[in-house]
Amino acid sequence: MSDKILSKDQAASFLGELAETRDLFAPALEGGKVVWAPLAPDGEVLWDFANTTMSPKDFFFPQTECMMRFANHQDGEDGMVMHAEPELAKERALVNMRPCDAKAFGVLDLIFCQDEMTDDPYWRNKREKSLIIALACNNPCPTCFCTSMNCGPHSETGADVLLVDLGDQLLARGVSEKGETAIASLPEATEADQAAAAQAKKEAEAAITTTVEMDQINQREVMELYEAKHWDRVHESCLNCGTCTFCCPTCHCFDIQDETLGEAGRRVRNWDYCMSYLFTLHGTGHNPRGSKKDRVRQRFMHKFKYIPVKRGGEIGCVGCGRCVQLCPVNIDVREVVRDMNA
Ligand code: SF4
Ligand code: SF4
Repeated sequence: MSDKILSKDQAASFLGELAETRDLFAPALEGGKVVWAPLAPDGEVLWDFANTTMSPKDFFFPQTECMMRFANHQDGEDGMVMHAEPELAKERALVNMRPCDAKAFGVLDLIFCQDEMTDDPYWRNKREKSLIIALACNNPCPTCFCTSMNCGPHSETGADVLLVDLGDQLLARGVSEKGETAIASLPEATEADQAAAAQAKKEAEAAITTTVEMDQINQREVMELYEAKHWDRVHESCLNCGTCTFCCPTCHCFDIQDETLGEAGRRVRNWDYCMSYLFTLHGTGHNPRGSKKDRVRQRFMHKFKYIPVKRGGEIGCVGCGRCVQLCPVNIDVREVVRDMNA
């Protein structure tokens, strides 16, 4: 791990070097919202922003993704001809990703690439071709609770480089080998720079005053939590609109459809969500999650109990607070976790 220094004045030339071999993307202000957008090498970098409205998960898990194309060649020897989708043509750098989002992709790695049987090439290809340059949060939002979720405003997990804003300059910490290579040409940070970054981390962590506990959730049996009384209340106001799942960096439900036009077609993977009645509706008409309570419970049980049990204690939430900000009926995940932990 190495600490380098990058003045904001020189960021354009640093990014220009990265852009020689990569497409660059970064948060940008658009219509009053902070969104992910292409970044020109000489473009203006946003240094002061809260979380992007939507998470950057669609860089690796697009909202709609073509998995393959096919054509029915009735006269041909093979009949149905299938064509694999080409891999990502160029490497990418995702600049100024928040640490919670970088951490979230480590959680999803455990879902999409579990073993030889479950090793999603679409996800893996994009992950391997992306350099993640995270920007530590010095001013967390009131809805952030990342410090309770194995994460934090200066978390390095999942990042290749972590930038810490020190005013006119940035401390650039190489976290992975790929990240170390990317910042190799920058000058070394001084001890004073490192002390300033450590102080910024301390202050940012102290600014997160919302905490939730996981100890009771971890200790309780799955069925005890599943049958808890509070689910009768939690689900009542939910609209099953899916907003919380679409904005979430760790939600990953999908549906696969074949779309055809004449003799040709494509197989697409689309975001779906466990809060939807149709998501689990069987062809027989039976729905194992037929009630709204079943579906709402699934979202929270999956994140805070099933994933930790199945993935070595990892939590399926990084505390980014997006769902708290965007739920139209003010269902607050922090309150639900407190109920589960009571
Ligand atoms: S955003 Fe709120 S209302 Fe919509 S599905 Fe999520 S919890 Fe329910
Ligand atoms: S559940 Fe809510 S707070 Fe947790 S990662 Fe998803 S959007 Fe962020």
